[in-house]
Amino acid sequence: MDMIDPFGRTISYLRVSVTDRCDFRCVYCMSEDMAFLPKKDLLSLEELDRLCTVFIEKGVRKLRLTGGEPLVRKNIMHLVRELSRHLKSGALEELTLTTNGSQLARYAGELADAGVKRINVSLDTLDADKFHAITRWGHLDKVMTGIDAAQAAGLQVKLNAVALKGFNDVELPEMLRWAHGRDMDLTVIETMPMGEIEADRTDQYLPLSILRADLEKQFTLKDIPYKTGGPARYVEVAETGGRLGFITPMTHNFCESCNRVRLTCTGTLYMCLGQEDAADLRAPLRASEGNDLVAAAIDEAIGRKPKGHDFVIDRRTNRPSVSRHMSVTGG
Ligand code: SAM
Repeated sequence: MDMIDPFGRTISYLRVSVTDRCDFRCVYCMSEDMAFLPKKDLLSLEELDRLCTVFIEKGVRKLRLTGGEPLVRKNIMHLVRELSRHLKSGALEELTLTTNGSQLARYAGELADAGVKRINVSLDTLDADKFHAITRWGHLDKVMTGIDAAQAAGLQVKLNAVALKGFNDVELPEMLRWAHGRDMDLTVIETMPMGEIEADRTDQYLPLSILRADLEKQFTLKDIPYKTGGPARYVEVAETGGRLGFITPMTHNFCESCNRVRLTCTGTLYMCLGQEDAADLRAPLRASEGNDLVAAAIDEAIGRKPKGHDFVIDRRTNRPSVSRHMSVTGG
């Protein structure tokens, strides 16, 4: 039976954060001394597979692995290979992941072999020093090698960049040309007030309406109906022939067409990225060998999916709209 929420939206897209750990510490995402979930609380890869399978039986057609950094979870390729059986059976249309690219050189070939066709790579700058500054621990050359490996393996790569005022806004035209020159779409994202970080989000926040107006001084942007199942709205860039996506959780609430729910590595289901309400699926999963209990818990949770998020970034509020960091629920 399909999962339909109280607002008539069919849930067909599951994002799974397979770990909250990451080998980067992006300044807008995490604090430098993050406290991670105790390893004992994690679902095993078998349990994650079982939960994903229940979701697929309930109508999920697109599954994205995320994190933290999904490719730093131990034995992650085991889960990818197991899940790929649902691609082969036709139950699942797409298995994909969002990654920082640091481990792609090692895994790109295996991902392609498992039936992954497209991946998102997060990249906020093409400048090696700035890259190291924003990720705190990352190295641009490693990510570039990863992107090369992904393309060589036949994976379609989309780049995601969080638009940050005074950091990469001036660089985005160059990034756009570079991405399109290498046959990659680029999507820009508004920074969201999730979790305590050292920086002031008001200083970082760049509304994409302003960025778009800026880009239109040098590019011809044409709105197109292209969709990938996520929240991005796309334009075609006449000068490059490529696509540019805008993800605007702050300036344009896209919740009316939300088809997604998010599962964490401890089996907590968030029905909205921007709300605190959640459902525990680990207890019903572990309570019996059959899947009836967990299926019932999922139905109950979908019945509570909220209409939307209400993120606020301004100096008066000056605290996160949701307390958990993005690394818990994944992007
Ligand atoms: N480690 C993987 C990666 O880097 O893509 C997957 C997880 S990461 C949390 C997913 C995406 O969320 C990345 O593109 C990251 O830039 C973005 N992100 C993290 N914190 C964010 C925030 N507060 N607002 C908007 N995007 C954020």
